[in-house]
Amino acid sequence: MKKHINIPIFVPHLGCPNDCSFCNQKKITGVGTTVTASDVENIVKSHLATINTDSSEIEIGFFGGSFTGIEANQQEELLGAAYKFLEKGKIGGIRLSTRPDYIDETILKRLKKFGVTTIELGVQSMEDSVLKKNMRGHTAKDTILASQLIKSYNIGLGHQLMLGLPGDTKETAIKTAKKSIELKPDCARIYPTLVIRDTMLARWYESGSYLPLTLKDAVNQCKEILKLLRQADVNVIRMGLLSSDNINPDADVLAGPYHPSFGELVESEIVYDALCEQIEKTDEKIIEISVNPRFVSTLVGCKKENIKRLKETFNLCDIKIVQDESVKLGNWRVKCI
Ligand code: SF4
Repeated sequence: MKKHINIPIFVPHLGCPNDCSFCNQKKITGVGTTVTASDVENIVKSHLATINTDSSEIEIGFFGGSFTGIEANQQEELLGAAYKFLEKGKIGGIRLSTRPDYIDETILKRLKKFGVTTIELGVQSMEDSVLKKNMRGHTAKDTILASQLIKSYNIGLGHQLMLGLPGDTKETAIKTAKKSIELKPDCARIYPTLVIRDTMLARWYESGSYLPLTLKDAVNQCKEILKLLRQADVNVIRMGLLSSDNINPDADVLAGPYHPSFGELVESEIVYDALCEQIEKTDEKIIEISVNPRFVSTLVGCKKENIKRLKETFNLCDIKIVQDESVKLGNWRVKCI
């Protein structure tokens, strides 16, 4: 199977007219983007020089801000530069992120012309009260219409979902995931809300009117949503922000459930639940778990947390981990001794 590689191009949506509670783009002034066609060309060429193109499936991704909110001629300039690589077969696709209310037939015709393969919508929530409270400036209906329109153009659909926004609860987050699934996205990203400096959310946090999710709650909510999305065959391509997402966690994140390996924590929690189900059926006190070497860290958890909890919960004397290449990645075998 080919390795998927994204060549990210950050396109700040300068002077964004919106004012979402969690976003600090509003401190940037001016209109348009500073990224040019030659920047795109240079960024892509420098990435391609370091990638084994034979064993990789490569996409160019325009992220940050709302791509389809920038001037049409700038969109065409940037897409044109990316399209040259697509035409020559140097990359396999072009993806971009935008707001649900920045999608219409004219926009989609333009994106289709330049070979855009996936559009990721910043859905955030499917609850209008949450969207309103966080000043998103669009409704759940906009997401429904945009998703349907994107699919009618035969362009891949991505949904970006947030957890823990003001007004959001575990129940509304699960409802959001279920409504997202009804729209049949091909892929999704799940982002627990972080309090970023210079945002409205930071002011709410400092005044005590907003309390972010704890890391534990964020992991648990994300786990439930991940399970729902996976059951519906939605490919979850990211959980949690990376420091490369144009955010410097040390400097920019004031509070919230940031963890450099957030996705790994969620995967470990899913493994923990599954192991509990297997182990509670036995009275034995020594357990042996065979696992692929590449899955050991997910199985044992961060700082071996899963092993410690399993021992405590089931009063086990020992858990032996056996590394076995023959066990399929993501699977394991439990033997009670
Ligand atoms: S999240 Fe997007 S739409 Fe909202 S303020 Fe930031 S750039 Fe604008």
